[in-house]
Amino acid sequence: MKDKFYPPKFQCDDFHCPNCGVYSHQYWFEVYYHDNGLRQELNTFFCKCSHCYKISIWFEGKMIQPSMGGVPLPNVDLPEDIIIDYNEARDIVNKSPRGASALLRLAIQKLCKHLGRSGKNINNDIAELVKVGLPVKIQQALDFVRVVGNNAVHPGQIDLKDDNDIALNLFTLINIIADVMISQPKEIDKLYNTLPENQIDAIKKGDNKTSL
Ligand SMILES: [Zn+2]
Repeated sequence: MKDKFYPPKFQCDDFHCPNCGVYSHQYWFEVYYHDNGLRQELNTFFCKCSHCYKISIWFEGKMIQPSMGGVPLPNVDLPEDIIIDYNEARDIVNKSPRGASALLRLAIQKLCKHLGRSGKNINNDIAELVKVGLPVKIQQALDFVRVVGNNAVHPGQIDLKDDNDIALNLFTLINIIADVMISQPKEIDKLYNTLPENQIDAIKKGDNKTSL
């Protein structure tokens, strides 16, 4: 599992930057002006990232720029077409959580296909992925956000009950599925390939008592 995601939070000193995605220290500056010598506050803050030096703009405690703030960046191991859907959903989530959720369901459908399933029925695909190692808790979480199970809607179909929280959960779930099914096996493969050849042979034979 990758490091925990700390979403941007008003006046918080450290979080995952909404511009560069790096967990970094953030510097806060309040915007105000003087009117006849009196300080006039605008309820507006600039927040500057110590890593990329880019600024996020906050009004009345909420981030207004960049608009996709609060959503984690996509797992880099996701296929490119899914990253495109994911980022498009990220761009629109604050204005249209339902539109973002529809895109993310489509992304989950594509991800199932990428993982060797049919891509036709998310419910069946996720059930099959559970058989090959996807934690059953992810299936339950997908059921909860109405992607699979009793509350399922057809992929890409807009569900009127979607809200911002459901969309945010879908971003996280896609990243978790990618982490468990793509990133972790890749890391394990890398580790496996660093083992001496005689040990790999021994593992293949099911004998771990070999000496170097
Ligand atoms: Zn940054």
